[in-house]
Amino acid sequence: MASLPPPATSTVDAIYAAYEAAADAGWREHLGASVIGAECGRSLWYSFRWATRARHAGRLLRLFETGHLAEARFVADLRRIGVTVLEVDPDTGRQWTLRDATGHFGGSMDAVAKGFPEAPATWHLCEFKTHSAKSFARLQAEGVAASKPLHWAQMQAYMQLAGIERAFYLAVCKDTDALYQERVHHDVEAGLRLLAKAERIVHAVRPPARISDDPAWWQCRLCDHQAVCQEGEAAERHCRSCLHASAVEGGAWHCARHGVALSRQDQERGCSAHLYIPDLVPGEQVDAGEDWVSYRLPDGSEWRDGVPAAEPMVVPHGPCNRCGADRYEVGPGAGPHPFRLTCTACGHRGRWLGYAQAASRGIAA
Ligand code: SF4
Ligand code: SF4
Repeated sequence: MASLPPPATSTVDAIYAAYEAAADAGWREHLGASVIGAECGRSLWYSFRWATRARHAGRLLRLFETGHLAEARFVADLRRIGVTVLEVDPDTGRQWTLRDATGHFGGSMDAVAKGFPEAPATWHLCEFKTHSAKSFARLQAEGVAASKPLHWAQMQAYMQLAGIERAFYLAVCKDTDALYQERVHHDVEAGLRLLAKAERIVHAVRPPARISDDPAWWQCRLCDHQAVCQEGEAAERHCRSCLHASAVEGGAWHCARHGVALSRQDQERGCSAHLYIPDLVPGEQVDAGEDWVSYRLPDGSEWRDGVPAAEPMVVPHGPCNRCGADRYEVGPGAGPHPFRLTCTACGHRGRWLGYAQAASRGIAA
């Protein structure tokens, strides 16, 4: 019996497509505290330099939204038991946004709260997370520092930046709605270490070392930047991948080529003077000039980034002493002979052009 075609899922497909259409450019403005605990500093640098655009399928984007929507319920649950929860900074009326001294590293706390039964008088920053059943079981067994080191590092970075001594980690198992809580103490040493790590990434002009050169290494297999890092794929062209751009104070970006500050829009657009940061090119730098850099690629070919090389001027002249051909490439000469001729057939460089001969062929000195 012929098998039935799979059921059409036009509506679900349309919902996912709508999420994808509404997604942002896939580049994060700042280096986020939520990822600073990542072991591979190189992946952080790639993210900060927008080497790979984050493109998520509609289903995944919806899953992210599930996590955001859960925050309101966590807040309601805490208020239900009398905890005072400030979702926004009362001074600004906006989200609790934190930035380090560079202005390029930070994030947003989910809330700040006081009145927990365990420590009623102590302000805590709140971190709300949703977990799969497997992740939740591990969280219960090992605690947040061991089972979710990125979440722990995120809270340490926030405590360091906000000057708050306690964090309250509240998590839910998406399968059962069971809750998990953990109070986390501020570890000053860890906080300072994370801020120093962020500053190194922000100011690094080159990517840090790889955590592994083996593409099969588990962290590399999960890494968004594997294609650029290990497979020789080109990074995208924009100011963040350009060697003229640098992160400057106050979370701003500056272009040394044009001597201007770069808005977010400028950065995404880039310009025709873009030159890749050499470490983003899978080749060896062999030559450079104003507005161009040449690389030898792994296959032996040469690739020129930036202004295209001018086509060599070729002129007819008397037969080559070596091969008899009569076409020559014009190059710079010396002394009374301003131009040197190189045979296009055999590469012999035995002929010269004086000013008068050059002028008669329309070649300007
Ligand atoms: S592929 Fe591996 S080494 Fe490269 S950035 Fe990602 S995690 Fe780091
Ligand atoms: S040269 Fe162009 S692409 Fe490079 S940083 Fe300046 S504006 Fe951006």
